[in-house]
Amino acid sequence: MTPISKVDFGQSEQAPLGGSVALVTGGNRGIGRAIALRLAAMGSAVAICGRDEKALRTVEQELKAMNVAVHAQVADVTSPADVASLVDKTEATLGPISILVNNAGIGVFGPTHEKSEADWDRTLNTNLKSVFLMSKAVAPSMIHQGRGDIINISSLAGKNAFAGGGIYCASKWGVQGLTACMAEDLREYGIRVAVICPGSVATEFSGRGPKDPAKALTPDDVAHAVAMLVTQGKQSFLSEVHVRPLRK
Ligand code: NDP
Repeated sequence: MTPISKVDFGQSEQAPLGGSVALVTGGNRGIGRAIALRLAAMGSAVAICGRDEKALRTVEQELKAMNVAVHAQVADVTSPADVASLVDKTEATLGPISILVNNAGIGVFGPTHEKSEADWDRTLNTNLKSVFLMSKAVAPSMIHQGRGDIINISSLAGKNAFAGGGIYCASKWGVQGLTACMAEDLREYGIRVAVICPGSVATEFSGRGPKDPAKALTPDDVAHAVAMLVTQGKQSFLSEVHVRPLRK
């Protein structure tokens, strides 16, 4: 597993997220792992989930070594029962969730007319329905707290069209619309619902790496964008961030 670079917040900001509780879906590898480690480095208690228990326990140990409170739970974000249990157990263990990162996702690619209904259901349930289920589950407690950040990891594929992207793009374009509307629903409660759209990131996403890893983003680059969103001023709302590799 790639090491995550150490972050130095300087003397005055040792733990900018002290007192926060973050839940990162798909925190057991790739981008989600980098986000979970970054939020822990900033002083937040962190909960992670994923279906692969071995990977989950590895990242749980990495987080515990950072001396923050941790909750790690095997959960499938497409299952309403798993989502309810994940949110309940996280809040019982760590306290009210103030940061939700909807990161879990899968990539299914190929000409849309050749894909199956099962491909559609699996992709839309994982990438889009889960964002609805998770956000709905944490919103009451964020409303009660009068604060919160819900950050959805979409993709530049949520803005652009390309051959073979039909099902994946449909899921991520859906995330864009859901994010923008939920932002309007929740901003009056002091809750920011934002979306990050990364370009190609060097992970094992969809069972393959990026075409040219030397020109891809790192998971840490996406974690950096999350850190930026959760440390903006209370009056500020960065609603959409595009993160592109510098070199084409
Ligand atoms: P990885 O395949 O490395 O990680 C995907 C994560 O999602 C894993 O932790 C996986 O855990 C979790 N996950 C998938 N399905 C479920 C499920 N049903 N329930 C719970 N967890 C699930 O991919 P990345 O880290 O690259 O991708 C993370 C996000 O970033 C995705 O939303 C992806 O669409 C987005 N993205 C990725 C880009 C890239 O180039 N890599 C570019 C732009 C956006 P497990 O399998 O154990 O359940």
